[in-house]
Amino acid sequence: MKVVLPDNSELELPEGATGLDAARAIGPKLAEQAVLVRSNGHVQDLRLPLENGQPIQILTTRDSQDPDALAVLRHSSAHLLAEAVKRLYPGVKIAIGPAIENGFYYDFDFPEPIHEDDLPRIEDEIRREIAEGRSWAREEVPADEARRRFEQEGEPYKVELVGTAQGAISFYTQGQFTDLCRGPHLQDARPIKAIKLTGLAGAYWRGDEHNKQLTRIYGTAFYSQADLDAYLERVEEAKRRDHRKLGRQLELFSLQESSPGSPFWHPKGMVIWNALEDLRRRENAKRGYVEVKTPLLYDIDTYITSGHYENYRENMYFVQGHEGEKPLALKPMNCPGHMLLFGERRRSYRELPLRYAESSTLHRDERGGTLHGLLRVRHITQDDAHVFVTEDQIQDEIHGMVEYARFLYDLFGLDARAELSTRPDKRLGTDEQWDRAEAALEEALKRNEIEYTISPGEGTFYGPKIDLHMTDSLGRSWQVGTIQLDYQMPMQFGLAYFGADNAEHHPVVIHRALLGSLERFIGILIEHYAGAFPVWLAPVQVRVIPVGEDHRDAAHALEDKLEGLRVDVDERDETVGKRIRDAEVEKVPYVIVYGDKESDEALAVRKRGGEQFTLSLDALRAEISERASIQ
Ligand SMILES: [Zn+2]
Ligand SMILES: [Zn+2]
Repeated sequence: MKVVLPDNSELELPEGATGLDAARAIGPKLAEQAVLVRSNGHVQDLRLPLENGQPIQILTTRDSQDPDALAVLRHSSAHLLAEAVKRLYPGVKIAIGPAIENGFYYDFDFPEPIHEDDLPRIEDEIRREIAEGRSWAREEVPADEARRRFEQEGEPYKVELVGTAQGAISFYTQGQFTDLCRGPHLQDARPIKAIKLTGLAGAYWRGDEHNKQLTRIYGTAFYSQADLDAYLERVEEAKRRDHRKLGRQLELFSLQESSPGSPFWHPKGMVIWNALEDLRRRENAKRGYVEVKTPLLYDIDTYITSGHYENYRENMYFVQGHEGEKPLALKPMNCPGHMLLFGERRRSYRELPLRYAESSTLHRDERGGTLHGLLRVRHITQDDAHVFVTEDQIQDEIHGMVEYARFLYDLFGLDARAELSTRPDKRLGTDEQWDRAEAALEEALKRNEIEYTISPGEGTFYGPKIDLHMTDSLGRSWQVGTIQLDYQMPMQFGLAYFGADNAEHHPVVIHRALLGSLERFIGILIEHYAGAFPVWLAPVQVRVIPVGEDHRDAAHALEDKLEGLRVDVDERDETVGKRIRDAEVEKVPYVIVYGDKESDEALAVRKRGGEQFTLSLDALRAEISERASIQ
């Protein structure tokens, strides 16, 4: 039989040959370094037979950054972790241990609770296993035999997993440890050059809170120590930048038990909030959006019409009014309000595109455990808009939106990437409509030169969509914006306009948010900038520090002369050094220390980052004004 290699050449192999056989046929070095076979986007264990005509790519220890190569290394590390824990803690029961983004975990049922300071001992045990040498053997076994084996070993979680397993049951064995596992695994443990256990957490068996809570041990592993070091450095940097920590330190926002998932915005946080609101208003106005305001509460009938009652009820908050009144619900999205507004009177084609923008408060009942600072909240404010168009206008409108998104992300130095989700199996509308809609979205991405991937079948049932992702300064990707075409909701609400032909037509609506939730976006910005906001967003742009009591009047006079900028005066009875350090902690972009020698002609200016120079008031005002404007 033959398999096809990545360069399209064919490799002749005996019938039943495995991935490892293919690697050996190519060369002994490749066979030694091989970790995995990838075929048509799927991964396959090296020990499994190949099929005639199968395209294969053999991943090796040199593919040290490849997500699949890392996953097989990490999942194999999880097996080593389970073996180590069983050796150290007699009576422990094991559950599951997958690879995850950036690492792996394994869930255990310990007879006695363990603590963070037990992790180094377990880590040492894993290193001992690697030093002793471990290789993985794969075997397929009948379900009965698998069940019997785990019953004998006293592993109830594994017995349960055998009961729900689909397809053939396979075991992987290393040393004295055998696990129920589909694979794939490394040949042996030698490629695991760096491993670290990173933490402990509670986790319910099968993710169900009615089940027993197990202990999850997290870890990560790499093909080199240097990669692990770089990763740990990034993690540390992310911790330093954690928006919850910086949010407190910079007095931007706080969260309180009395209203979970709903941030309290402090005065300095509101400066950033309002800067984004101003940006939204100004840029929307330039692009022909009109601002509207629609109610927060609607009756259930409205949500039945919009489909939210059917599809989104679990995430909505209901409000029971007085006896005999219909229950109401807080809006989780602005669409129903905008549909009702459009439908309030007859429309003409001359009014289209009609672009309704609203950054109203929305409420979504995110489950308590999933709330996370500003990144996952219940009180959400989107830079939302609904644009009503004729079918002919779709192309230009989408193009304008993608261009707008690009402008916004560039402003923050965030790299944009898009994901185009196309027609799912279950859908409304004709194939011709879908063809046109998908083509319009893709064309807009191409014209704006935004890197994109296609997710086939991932569109909503009412239309295709573009999800906009951005990469921050730590290389992390966030989904922020979305542009969704929708043929259905206007029909559900019976919306129509009179065309040039004098006949009634349904408009198409485009739902779009570009920054997404402002709460979340600010959370991302805090981490992206590590709290050191650009001048136009900085809550305090200039701080004046009078050296002594005698300089306070002059400091306040300077504050007045810098009118239009956000200036404050720190006249606390602290040393100048202490006040300068505090301004650094608050990441104020410009600090002016005002003493005997200072005047409008010569000001001692310290820029954030440590640079110091002397500038006249006019020159300083010109520089800051320039940086404070984003036009
Ligand atoms: Zn496994
Ligand atoms: Zn919408």
